[in-house]
Amino acid sequence: MTDIRRPEKKGQVLVLCAPSGTGKSTLVKKLRAEFPQIGFSISCTTRQPRVGEENGKDYYFLNEDEFNEKLENGEFVEWAEVHGNFYGTPKEPVEKMLFKGMDVLFDIDFQGCMQLMESMPDGVFVFLMPPSYAELRKRLKSRNTDSESVVNLRLRNAMKEMASAPKFEYWIVNDDLKRAYSELKSIYLAGKNRPCSNPGLLESILSTWE
Ligand code: ADP
Ligand code: 5GP
Repeated sequence: MTDIRRPEKKGQVLVLCAPSGTGKSTLVKKLRAEFPQIGFSISCTTRQPRVGEENGKDYYFLNEDEFNEKLENGEFVEWAEVHGNFYGTPKEPVEKMLFKGMDVLFDIDFQGCMQLMESMPDGVFVFLMPPSYAELRKRLKSRNTDSESVVNLRLRNAMKEMASAPKFEYWIVNDDLKRAYSELKSIYLAGKNRPCSNPGLLESILSTWE
């Protein structure tokens, strides 16, 4: 039977962008734990796996030849070089999830976001900010996953990433994790109530007048 609230299936695209170390993965994990029905876009990367990262769960870890082959075959919905490595979003799984009516969450950099803003204009684009440079530095160091030179490179790139913030529809400051999460959750849920997320709804309710 047709669900009166959802006459046509349409998944929502939710895109989260932030300078490395701000807390994006932490917030993604919390949102996916509370809403397990949200699909997550698993990216391909040429970066080396960190301790604890699993191929096919956190990323698809590829070498440059494998990445370039996918790129040439048009298999990415967006891609970019970030902090010296290549990253790309595989098109097919995203299209399949959206077609089934699943919401899809993306954790990608600002260059990828700019591409998705063009190809997926109905997406909800959220920029997450650290409360300060000093705090970002502290988080990147205390995460203990990257060498000092990688941490420094990510800090240098953070300024460029912050400069892209005005292009985003929503901003969240991740000072207090609990509050940042509650803001992200509100934005995600509010996005689902937009007319563009509910094709056919108005027509379906109006048809009961006839
Ligand atoms: P990103 O995915 O943006 O690179 P992470 O989610 O890996 O960042 O977070 C970087 C570090 O900061 C982690 O050690 C994480 O536990 C910590 N962190 C995340 N959010 C907060 C917060 N609000 N306050 C303090 N530390 C945080
Ligand atoms: P990390 O190496 O810390 O996992 O990610 C580094 C940066 O690459 C983060 O800003 C992350 O959001 C971004 N990233 C991850 N996957 C993709 C992707 O598929 N495309 C783009 N453009 N950026 C990505």
